[in-house]
Amino acid sequence: MNVTFSARCPKCNNRSFDAPEQLDVALEFACQACGHRGKLVEFADLATLDAIVEDIKKRAARTLRGTNGAKAIG
Ligand SMILES: [Zn+2]
Repeated sequence: MNVTFSARCPKCNNRSFDAPEQLDVALEFACQACGHRGKLVEFADLATLDAIVEDIKKRAARTLRGTNGAKAIG
């Protein structure tokens, strides 16, 4: 995956987050500084979210093409 991971705590603006091994919008995240917990969508920067969503779409398109013969994807 070619995602530059960037995240920030919505409560305390802590930006020291490591990129998780698998990027998924439903991933659980926790802030080390203030203890705020939430999903990755709450923490990730917009550019990071965009990249994750694009990646998920691409993966879904590949899966669909294989199963129901959908065309004109990608
Ligand atoms: Zn925090």
